[in-house]
Amino acid sequence: MFDTLVLASNNAGKLKEFSALLAPLGIKVVPQGELGVPECPEPHITFLENALEKARHASRVTGLPALADDSGICVEVLNGAPGVLSARFAGEPKSDAANNALLVSKLAGETNRRAWYTCVLVLVRHAEDPQPLVAEGVWHGEIVDTPRGEGGFGYDPYFWLADQGQTVAELPAEQKNRMSHRGQAIAVLLERLKALQ
Ligand code: IMP
Repeated sequence: MFDTLVLASNNAGKLKEFSALLAPLGIKVVPQGELGVPECPEPHITFLENALEKARHASRVTGLPALADDSGICVEVLNGAPGVLSARFAGEPKSDAANNALLVSKLAGETNRRAWYTCVLVLVRHAEDPQPLVAEGVWHGEIVDTPRGEGGFGYDPYFWLADQGQTVAELPAEQKNRMSHRGQAIAVLLERLKALQ
């Protein structure tokens, strides 16, 4: 096993979350920016391909094992859109308000509101790793027309959880982290890593 890995992201929240979860396994997480890794393009149409590209790129530049994630929201009647374009669904500059307005307008008059958040994590032990560790989390919900709640980010105020009777933006942060697509993917990754030890 390895004791250090590079995180193919400079997002402070993700660094904190992954560092805390991997510390008990004796793995130190270093953000790619600290090691001079430039941002990598995400040209693909699937979360998996984009995450793999980011992980490989960070590993190639640093010579270290690398972890990358890619996430977004998929809507059934939109054939999975916004998908990998979730952050910039309504174009540049990226705006949660504009993305949500566009999503609601595309679903006007539509009765099928089914949607899901997806997170894919990819860990490569080296840039040519023939067998990356892959972990996926999926969180199902429905898109509503009226926002509720102040928590979370992105599409959360419009993402309704029928079993909770709340939107994701109404959940306490700790509950969201446990239930979310990211939380599920991280749990799967941890199990895979423990199995290697
Ligand atoms: P990233 O993979 O963290 O860059 O997320 C891509 C985009 O997907 C974000 O900018 C959001 O628009 C959307 N997204 C991903 N996860 C969530 C979430 O937990 N809540 C709301 N939106 C999310």
